Amino acid sequence: MKRAVSDRAGGEGSHHHAVQLYETDAFLVTAVRDFLVPALEQGDAAIAVATAAHRDQLAESLTQAGFDVAALRDRGLYTDLDAGELLNTFMLGGSPDRTLFQKNVGTLIAQASAGGRSVRVFGEMVARLWAEGDVAAALALEDLWNELAESHAFSLFCGYPMTAFEQEAATLAFTKVCEQHSHVRPSESFTGNTDNEELMRNVAVLQQRAQVGMFESQALREKQAELQQALARLEELDRLRNDFIAMVVHDIRSPNAIVIGFLEILRTNWRDFPDDQIDELLSKGVDSARQVARIVSDMLTVAKLEAREFTFDVQSVDLTQCIYRTVAAVTEATSRTIDVEVPGNLPRVTADEARQMQILNNLLTNAIKFSSPESAVSVTAVASGGEVVVGVRDEGIGIPTAEIPRLFRRFTRVDDPSHRDVKGTGLGLYISKGLVEGQGGRIWVDSEVGRGSEFNYTVPIDI
Ligand code: ADP
Repeated sequence: MKRAVSDRAGGEGSHHHAVQLYETDAFLVTAVRDFLVPALEQGDAAIAVATAAHRDQLAESLTQAGFDVAALRDRGLYTDLDAGELLNTFMLGGSPDRTLFQKNVGTLIAQASAGGRSVRVFGEMVARLWAEGDVAAALALEDLWNELAESHAFSLFCGYPMTAFEQEAATLAFTKVCEQHSHVRPSESFTGNTDNEELMRNVAVLQQRAQVGMFESQALREKQAELQQALARLEELDRLRNDFIAMVVHDIRSPNAIVIGFLEILRTNWRDFPDDQIDELLSKGVDSARQVARIVSDMLTVAKLEAREFTFDVQSVDLTQCIYRTVAAVTEATSRTIDVEVPGNLPRVTADEARQMQILNNLLTNAIKFSSPESAVSVTAVASGGEVVVGVRDEGIGIPTAEIPRLFRRFTRVDDPSHRDVKGTGLGLYISKGLVEGQGGRIWVDSEVGRGSEFNYTVPIDI
């Protein structure tokens, strides 16, 4: 292997402490194998202190190179240990302890070098500390290795993934790592074939700069994509808002025109109308004025919910009574029959009574609006866990599955002619969700086109 540490990495002369930068595990494992093989071939000792994955890959690579790894282990010529476990034997209070390191790692090296054998060590404890973000401990450990080399003969090979140095902030530490090693080996993106130490060191420095550049441009690309998405969301919101304004203007204008029209007729001609016609005109006028008031009130509720200024008057509430009162009001307003199924022992809930009635009213009004007059509409309530689940079921037109995720967003109206024909502002469910959640509950819907819908929401039980 052209740039793996050469056979000269014996133990003689000054301490041999190489760092191999790498991008892929495969490259690292081959480089480590090429570093350890000369020792094994000469009957010397090799130690690998690595992650489980790297130990397995290394053993396989040595086996493929013709070594009987199990036999080498038995003879004490090949020792592979878990980086994390060995690290734990000398870490104290978050830093490597000098005395424990000298004792535990020193003994390991001394045992391997029994009989005058030279020792080659592949170590990944430092890279592990680095990966955990503990750069100071990693640099301290590199120093301890260098110090150990003053009393023990071994050559050391460290591996660092390039990603460890991708942040600009890691540059200083990278320079320090390079200084701590007698040999610096660039990662596999450098394909040049050279023994020139200075050149390789310089290439590694350039690789780290490039890695930072790549990381930053990737981060920039991600930021750009995020901004693009935010912009698209804003544009969508803007479009919805404009549609909404157009819709509200339309929805307010028509009933308002009716109120004005009737009042005008009555002002100029009321003496000519019989009493029953006056009564009818006034009733229609009141209905239209109520419609305007409802739209305005919905918009105010939305504004308050969004500004988190909506206040809930939460207390112990008799939900059963609340349900029956709402059902009676909706029945009277719509002349539809609504079935109610509530157990006699339904527990009291902690809620804002008026808001509970508003939620149920919204869901019942929808159930009635989106179903044929003769079909069934029902309300159920059951206690489950610490909450009561209230359900509103209809046998109406249903909601396409694809529309369900956006149903509780504001201004949502299902984009289908059967839905568009029914009057509405698309605020009811958005408000209901805000009101349910504001009282500590959840709301969801199950629906099938042509078969009907079931909205459920929860209210915390009063304890
Ligand atoms: P609005 O009814 O005022 O348009 P909502 O927020 O209450 O606003 O409802 C949003 C949309 O959800 C409705 O326009 C309708 O398309 C759909 N929807 C709500 N409830 C039902 C239901 N029970 N059956 C079918 N569609 C429904």
